[in-house]
Amino acid sequence: MPRDSPWELRRAVELMEKRGFKTVETGSNFALMELRRMRALVIYPLRDYLQLSSIDDVIKEFMLDKADSIVVVSERPYYLSDELNSAIERANLSGRTIGARVYPVYAGDIDGQLNVTMGIMLANNYDKVGNSDEADGQCPSCGEPMRVVFDNHVMDEGEESREQVLVCKRCGLKIHRFIHASGDAGSLASILHG
Ligand SMILES: [Zn+2]
Repeated sequence: MPRDSPWELRRAVELMEKRGFKTVETGSNFALMELRRMRALVIYPLRDYLQLSSIDDVIKEFMLDKADSIVVVSERPYYLSDELNSAIERANLSGRTIGARVYPVYAGDIDGQLNVTMGIMLANNYDKVGNSDEADGQCPSCGEPMRVVFDNHVMDEGEESREQVLVCKRCGLKIHRFIHASGDAGSLASILHG
């Protein structure tokens, strides 16, 4: 990371590397990260609103066509993230194909929010990070057998965990979860509907 990069960005890179991401490229206010075929761009924006008028300028400044996920880390990330999501929508309506989704992360709770956001990103992009295809349990929504499509070992605070994404190929339900080696229940799990 460049020396002048803000601590929020350094912390984001550190948290993501712990989860298996590799740093591909860094600048003073961004880091491009990769996990298998998923690319995630973390930005620490200079302003928390859009100042550019043309869609092309927005795409270029925020590198919206360079990643599958754009993570906006800021003290006020929500408004800018909404604006970027609607810029992507407008770009796609005018014939472009930008598949990125934008995720806000409040800098004041970067550890908590980024950890949850990473799980959502993995679930939303399971086709790009997939490394497994094993049956595991039933879909809580439709009863079809679920498949574990992503299975990764992560170390956190010296504790070994497995991070998994399960998908129901019938109804599209996705589950992200951690399984702690110690067998602790209560692991963070989120359920995303198709
Ligand atoms: Zn299902």
